[in-house]
Amino acid sequence: MIRELLKPYEDELCRLADSVWETPEPGFREFQSSRAEIDFLKEHGFEVKTNVADTVTGYEASWGNGHPVIAFLGEFDALYGMNQKADCAAYCPEDPKGMGQGCGHHLLGVGAIAAGLTFRDLLKARGVSGTVKIFGCPGEESGSGKAYMARDGVFADCDVALTWHPANFHMISSGSSQSCIQCYFRFHGVSAHAAGAPHLGRSALDAVELLDIGVNYLREHMESSDRVHYAITNSGGDSPNVVQAEAEVRYLIRSTTNPKCKQLFERVIRIARGAALMTDTTMEVIFDEGLSNTIPNFTLEDVFARVFAETGAPVYTPEERAYARKFADSFSTEGQISAIPFAVKDVEKLKENIRHSEICDYVVETIHTDHCEMGSTDVGDVSWVIPTGTVNTACFSYGAGSHSWQWTAQGKSSIAHKGMLYAAEILARSAEKLLEQPELIRKAKEEFDRRMEGQKYECQIPADVKPHVI
Ligand SMILES: [Zn+2]
Repeated sequence: MIRELLKPYEDELCRLADSVWETPEPGFREFQSSRAEIDFLKEHGFEVKTNVADTVTGYEASWGNGHPVIAFLGEFDALYGMNQKADCAAYCPEDPKGMGQGCGHHLLGVGAIAAGLTFRDLLKARGVSGTVKIFGCPGEESGSGKAYMARDGVFADCDVALTWHPANFHMISSGSSQSCIQCYFRFHGVSAHAAGAPHLGRSALDAVELLDIGVNYLREHMESSDRVHYAITNSGGDSPNVVQAEAEVRYLIRSTTNPKCKQLFERVIRIARGAALMTDTTMEVIFDEGLSNTIPNFTLEDVFARVFAETGAPVYTPEERAYARKFADSFSTEGQISAIPFAVKDVEKLKENIRHSEICDYVVETIHTDHCEMGSTDVGDVSWVIPTGTVNTACFSYGAGSHSWQWTAQGKSSIAHKGMLYAAEILARSAEKLLEQPELIRKAKEEFDRRMEGQKYECQIPADVKPHVI
C-alpha cells in the first residue's frame, strides 16, 4: 500500500531534491531550499508554520488531528568546500570554495517530506485519525537547528520522531552520538613594537598558543572517547613585528554524555583562564553551539527491523552499478572498511560486500547498542524530548563517506533518488506499524521514560544564545 501511495509523487519529489541540490546554502540561510519545500508542502495540503524557534528557515508542516502524532525530521543545509559537478567521478568543483550537498541533506529533507506525504495519504485512505508533522530543520552542519527547536518545545506534542540519513549502507542507525559544545576563546592584550618595546606588549596570540598547548596536555587525562578540536580564527594579524593585541580560537569539545561534555568544557575554560593569567591578557568565552548525545530507542529500532525485513533492499540496474563503480574506485575500500559502524551484526559479511560490490545491495543487520559513535548530530536533542529512531539508506556508492565531493557528485543520480525513496518507504511503513499497533508507541515511550530516569533535558545551549550565523 505504502509503495503504491508513494509512486505518483516520485518524479516531483526527485525534482524537488534536485532543486535543493542546485541551490546549496549554509545553515540558517537555506532560504531557497526552505521556500521550495514549504511551497511543495502547501501545494499538497499541509499547513506550514515558518521561522520555527526563531531559526528563520526552519518550518513545521502539519496535517490531520489526533493521535498518533508522528514527526518526520528533514534537513537541507549544505557544506562549504563541497562544491562539485554532478556525476563527475574526479574532483572537479565549479567553485573550489563554494558550497555543495556533501552530506546529502537535499535528499534527507525531501525523503522526510516523501515519508510524511505518503503516511498522510494512508491516513486519508483509511479515514482514521492521526497527525503528520514534517519538520524542516535548518543548520545541522553548523548551527544546531534541532537543539533550538527542542529547547523551544517544538517537538513536545509529538509521540515519536522518525528520521533517516543518506549513507553508504541500508541499516538501522543504532547507538548514541557525542554531546558537544563549540565556543570561541577571545583574548585581549596590548600591542607594541615587537623589537623596540616588547616589554610593553601583552600577546593575545601567546595566550591562544598556551591554551592550545595546555589542552594538548589535557588529552592524556581525558576519557579515550572524549574529543577536543580547535581552529585559530584570529591569529592577531600578519605582522610578526607587532605584538598581537587580539587573538581568537574556536574550540569544539565532545564527550559521550551532556554532563561529561559540560565538565570537559569547564576544564578547557580553566586552561584558557590559565593562559590569560600567564600572558597578562584578558579572556572572554563566546558560546557558539551545543548538541546533546543521542538517546537510543530499541523499540523503534525493532519496528524498523521488521519493516526492513518485509521491504527488502533496492535492486540496482547494470547502469547504476557501472555508475557506482566509477565512484567506488575513487576511494580506498579499506578506508570504508575501517569506518564500519559498531552496530553492524555481521562485520565480515559487510566487508565482503564492500570489497565485491560497488554499492550496498542488502539490508545490513544490526544489533541493539548504546555504543557512542564518534561525532555529533542535532537529532540527539530531539531524542531527549521524544522517542526517536533513525535509519540509513545507501544513496551513494561504496567508498567515500559523508562530507566528500563524491557524495555531492552523486547527489542527483538515480541511486541517490532510489535511496531517498527507499528511506521514505521504510519510514512511512514504520509509521503505518505504529498506527496499526498503538502499543508500540506506548512501549517506545516507556523505554524513553526508563532511559530518562534521573535526568532531564537541558539544552546544551544557554537560554540567552539565539540561533545565529557566524
Ligand atoms: Zn548530515
